[in-house]
Amino acid sequence: MPELPEVETVVREIRAELLNRSITAARFAIPRQLQPHTPRGLARAVAGQTIRDVRRRGKHILLQLDRGLLLVHLRMTGRLYVREAADGERAHERAWFHLDDGRVLAFRDARTLGVIRYVREGESPAMLNCLGWEPLSDRVSPEELKIVLSRRTIAVKPLLLDQKVWAGIGNIYASEILWEARINPRKRASRLTRSEMERLCQWVPRVLKRALDRGGSTLRNFVGADGRGGSYQREFRVYGREGEPCLRCRAPVRRIVQAQRSTYFCPRCQNTK
Ligand SMILES: [Zn+2]
Repeated sequence: MPELPEVETVVREIRAELLNRSITAARFAIPRQLQPHTPRGLARAVAGQTIRDVRRRGKHILLQLDRGLLLVHLRMTGRLYVREAADGERAHERAWFHLDDGRVLAFRDARTLGVIRYVREGESPAMLNCLGWEPLSDRVSPEELKIVLSRRTIAVKPLLLDQKVWAGIGNIYASEILWEARINPRKRASRLTRSEMERLCQWVPRVLKRALDRGGSTLRNFVGADGRGGSYQREFRVYGREGEPCLRCRAPVRRIVQAQRSTYFCPRCQNTK
């Protein structure tokens, strides 16, 4: 699944190609991905509009148009790219935005779990309103974090996946962040110490920035393998390393399941009570 650094990489890749290009026509193959819009209704809404900006919020890709906002969530297998119209459709393409320079913004999605929405100007995008801090750009102080955590009795690992706290931290980077911050993933969020909160505030942006710095190659590997295997996984400090020695203290890394998701951690150097 593309995580925040991969989504940010996609935005950087397509931004320059899309800025100030007009959408001449659009087609959609899977109506379910557009609900509540219909393919025809959505095509009519975006046709003739110019793309004024391309940005990211959490794991959503946002295309600012003249009169509204086009939202794309890649979910499991989605990919967004610009190609020449003459090159023809590739396998698993599900949506096509034809541009005024003869190219196409294509949305490929093997498992069709991705989402495309259109928000008219003046409307409030429900998908975005509930999102919390931006992990890459918002500077969160331990004091601000404490106010949020004081009410939360869940463990800190599932808390990091809550989009209302930080928007866009996925399962892989939640393990990586907690390993770097030396915090026990099973510890209750409301019981983190002051210094643990400080470390968490430091490592959330650091881990994601580090991933973003190698985002391009990561993404190509990721896409080539359709989300599985490859050199992509070997770059992680703790994720996917069950039984291997901790890179800090050599104790074997453990895998546990929290809220139906795998968590990897070091039982020795993340053994904070
Ligand atoms: Zn360790």
